[in-house]
Amino acid sequence: MAILPIRLFGDPVLRQQTRAVESVNNELKKLIGDMIETMRNAIGVGLAAPQVGYREQLFVVDISPLLDEIPEELRDNIPEQPMVLINPEITWESDEEEEFEEGCLSIPGIRELVIRPESVQLDYQDENMQEHTLAVDGILARVIQHEYDHLEGLLFTDHLSSFRRGILKRKLEGISQGKAEATYPVQSYS
Ligand SMILES: [Zn+2]
Repeated sequence: MAILPIRLFGDPVLRQQTRAVESVNNELKKLIGDMIETMRNAIGVGLAAPQVGYREQLFVVDISPLLDEIPEELRDNIPEQPMVLINPEITWESDEEEEFEEGCLSIPGIRELVIRPESVQLDYQDENMQEHTLAVDGILARVIQHEYDHLEGLLFTDHLSSFRRGILKRKLEGISQGKAEATYPVQSYS
């Protein structure tokens, strides 16, 4: 397995249209392994294919570093980690929303409060192309929605008010010019 450089804010690959995965061939198997290693090396809890330069509808999640923050009685509902989600589709979202501080491996050094539905339901396929339906809430729902956004060409900063975005403008421009201090390998577009 290999650690892949993470693409930074400003890279058009983060905004491109993604394509459905038809089968998990050896190349894609390797990519999935590399993405899990890259996520862990960066101490992230999720990583989507566009963040390492691919257009596949695929992301990986591993919230195990955050499990301590989840009440024990709720941990039974959490699937085994890490998770591989292929061709995900969110089919339901709750009316109840929640505010939570998010960061992104493609936007190092910025964390902001983002409002999202508290729980969602989704269909996806795993690395064996087995179909699953999953209802999630809490931290896992948060991470899944963030990664799902990446497959739609969206970043968490798109959810912020224009006021907050204005405050972050110079920092974001800096990142898109490669001025990012990350503890993991990154690749800027410029
Ligand atoms: Zn992200």
